[in-house]
Amino acid sequence: MCRSIAELDAAVADCFACPRLVAWRELVARQKRAAFRDQTYWGRPVPGFGPADARMLIVGLAPAAHGGNRTGRMFTGDRSGDVLYAALYAVGLANQPTAVDRDDGLRLDGVRITAPVHCAPPDNKPTPEERDRCGHWLDTELRLLTPTVRSVVVLGAFGWQALLPVLAGAGWVVPRPRPRFGHGAHVELAAADAGRNPLHLFGCYHVSQQNTFTGRLTPAMLEEVLADAAETAGLQVRRSHAPRG
Ligand code: SF4
Repeated sequence: MCRSIAELDAAVADCFACPRLVAWRELVARQKRAAFRDQTYWGRPVPGFGPADARMLIVGLAPAAHGGNRTGRMFTGDRSGDVLYAALYAVGLANQPTAVDRDDGLRLDGVRITAPVHCAPPDNKPTPEERDRCGHWLDTELRLLTPTVRSVVVLGAFGWQALLPVLAGAGWVVPRPRPRFGHGAHVELAAADAGRNPLHLFGCYHVSQQNTFTGRLTPAMLEEVLADAAETAGLQVRRSHAPRG
């Protein structure tokens, strides 16, 4: 029933639909990590971040316990976010390379970041039921962004698998068999009805420390996918690496 992204963000932040995740996000917010013991944790669902007329959407997994669940903004205050925002800044889609808290002045240009699960899960692992229960928020977000959104970058296989059925329900044609996730995957989804634009789906390894510390995902690899997706969506980018052939 949300009529705008602002309404959606407010409604998401007030959701209590998953008992296990509500208990976990609040427990983490009470116990805190020692380094943040003086801070007040957000301890609620983390809404999407970025303009309501975004041409490009980035879909992650779920907020981190001491990152988004602490600061209240997607990928803000953790190592994954450090990598993601540095890359967005490098390609010209963010006004600064760092994300520390909700008042740090960070702005995204034409890009919005969201997740298929809006609450921090234990061990970063939502259950399939929690993923499906949270899917209606993603569905609403996509419907509200439909007039402008032209590309989606999905960070990791979990987000890919969560997003495809939501895209099918929100008005795009998802081929059968379903396209497989892979770093550098690019699929154009046709619109299911006239008056809607096709949507370009890009796969990218998740910006987790597991991938970035091991070199499985390098800044250059991330910047390349972000730049490709942004250009496909009609956004201007800054490239320090040659585009793929
Ligand atoms: S994960 Fe999603 S559906 Fe579940 S409580 Fe959080 S916001 Fe609500």
